[in-house]
Amino acid sequence: MSHKLKVGELKEHYLVDEDIWRVFSIILSNKSAKSSTYKYALVKSLIENLYSVNDKLELSYDQLSYSFTKVYWNLVIHHHLDKQNRGSKNARAVTVIKEFKEKHDIPNEFSFDKINHSLQLKLVSKMKSVMKENVFGALYGDTKATFYEFNHYKEYFRFQPSVHRFMLNYQLLLVNLTNYHMAKMIEELNEVPSINYLLDKVESIAKRSSLKPYEKILLNYFEANCFYCSKSLSNSENVTHVDHFIPWSFVQSDQIWNLVLSCNRCNTSKNDKLPDRSYLDIIIDRNKQLVNQPPLEIDSMENYKDNKIILLYDYSIKNGFDKIWTP
Ligand SMILES: [Zn+2]
Repeated sequence: MSHKLKVGELKEHYLVDEDIWRVFSIILSNKSAKSSTYKYALVKSLIENLYSVNDKLELSYDQLSYSFTKVYWNLVIHHHLDKQNRGSKNARAVTVIKEFKEKHDIPNEFSFDKINHSLQLKLVSKMKSVMKENVFGALYGDTKATFYEFNHYKEYFRFQPSVHRFMLNYQLLLVNLTNYHMAKMIEELNEVPSINYLLDKVESIAKRSSLKPYEKILLNYFEANCFYCSKSLSNSENVTHVDHFIPWSFVQSDQIWNLVLSCNRCNTSKNDKLPDRSYLDIIIDRNKQLVNQPPLEIDSMENYKDNKIILLYDYSIKNGFDKIWTP
């Protein structure tokens, strides 16, 4: 009963891609006995945090629980997809979220990022217990102790290095596979029109409804100019956008070190493309200034390193983002 484990150690120290693919296809497809959608939500949370690891490739339970909570809040409250497991009882994650919503009287229309920060953290902490009891150990068992180790006392999760590298290399494929299988399972469990309806929802659950809070932070530290074309953003005809330097469809997360202010024109024309490589040096310089600032309210620069954004840039090209944009 691996899901009852409190500490799980790594049994394997090196895996080749072929082994990793095999395990992923088993855990993502119907081949493994899945009673709930937890494993998909955990894989989505891991992908969202691939670039937030520390030097030892560790993530804290808080980091993972934040992403995990967001997934379930948006599915259950925002999209009313309550059934997240087989059998008659609700999944524990669903019950915890619904009780929390009632207790704090949070409206259904609220996506997770609209909830105030201190309430978010309270819920994240409750969901951490759900993850400890039902999630970390289960996927650890399915991956036969070869993908990661975890420790409930120290509350950390650590990637096996070849698995982390694999996930960076095939990130986009993994995102699509996970979304597809998760949507398929949710479709089976809930009465919904079709899988296309669901895929749209699942694909965007991790997405913020607004990047406004980041705009405020960036405007605090930098002049109101477009990162790409330098046009001033302070005159009224120019709408200010917060743009993902590396496209969101690839990173699947919002980190301040990947966000820049941009004018309407650049934002629209850049769309889902990578900016020209020359901008990489500029954003690295920009980020140097952010690192020296006091801790940021909604996001931190902790674990940020210059080479992370370079890696991210190169991995997005490898993953098919090869249309390069200049203003
Ligand atoms: Zn511009």
